[in-house]
Amino acid sequence: MDTHLIDGVALARRIRDELRDRVARLAARGAQPGLAVIIVGDNPASKAYVRNKVKACGEAGVRSIHVELPESTSQEDLLGRIAALNADPAVHAILVQLPLPAHIANEAVIAAIAPAKDADGFHPLNVGRLVVGHPHVVPCTPAGVMAMLEAEDVNPWGRHAVVVGQSNIVGKPLAHLLLQRGATVTICNSKTRELGRHTARADILVAAVGRPNLITREMVKPGAVVIDVGINRLPDGKLCGDCDFAALQGVASRLTPVPGGVGPMTIAMLLVNAVRAAERTLDPEDAP
Ligand code: NAP
Repeated sequence: MDTHLIDGVALARRIRDELRDRVARLAARGAQPGLAVIIVGDNPASKAYVRNKVKACGEAGVRSIHVELPESTSQEDLLGRIAALNADPAVHAILVQLPLPAHIANEAVIAAIAPAKDADGFHPLNVGRLVVGHPHVVPCTPAGVMAMLEAEDVNPWGRHAVVVGQSNIVGKPLAHLLLQRGATVTICNSKTRELGRHTARADILVAAVGRPNLITREMVKPGAVVIDVGINRLPDGKLCGDCDFAALQGVASRLTPVPGGVGPMTIAMLLVNAVRAAERTLDPEDAP
């Protein structure tokens, strides 16, 4: 079987091109989407992610408000910053780059962001809306995976989807989105016994763990669609996903590469969330 590689770079570019029209329509009405990106501390990976997000904003015509705070920032100070951004009408969406320093409670920070300005969809209200089947703001990586499946004409309806990884930012929201699209969903975690017996039953297999080569050839059903969310840095500095990419060629019908798969989609969907938040301020009911 030929394995078709899903090109996340090309699809993300298409989504970003479409967004430019929406940004132009907003500009014609005197509005520019504003995304505030807050980073606390000096984590090099987080800094690189934030740089990419800020650059992507510039290219899409989204104004980015980059707030860089020292590692020593108190939780109270951070909550104060968020309150000010919540109150600023030029800021439509707010993202706090995770992880935060250990002395700051993630949950308190996420809950402090106004739900309507929650760029990542991590606020408990938005999580609840997603779980009950009325998503408002969808977390960027799961939204990117669903957009990839749609672009590839992979309909989850009636199919068995196996999601490996159950984090709040990827695995859990993605499992809910797949359920809502009619899939039968299995979620695996670090305690799952005989992981390969579960993954080998998947029509759609998503790996979101953070372990190179966790998913090997014999763990994949021939013809399965495999989405590799993992991003791992190998000792030689190269990036790889959670799947044994070379070994899955000829087994998976469709496969995402790392890099160049889900990663670019995550940033594109962040821009979508920021633009949609701005559109909602003008047309509360109409925004797509
Ligand atoms: P996370 O919070 O560390 O969660 C990892 C999940 O994997 C946990 O649910 C854990 O189970 C599960 N797990 C660990 N070892 C396992 C095993 N041997 N078998 C089955 N499940 C196992 O990570 P995350 O934030 O979801 O990110 C996952 C990966 O995706 C990372 O490589 C991250 O860099 C990448 N990522 C990529 C993007 C992108 O844009 N492409 C975006 C976000 C994340 P327990 O719950 O039992 O501990």
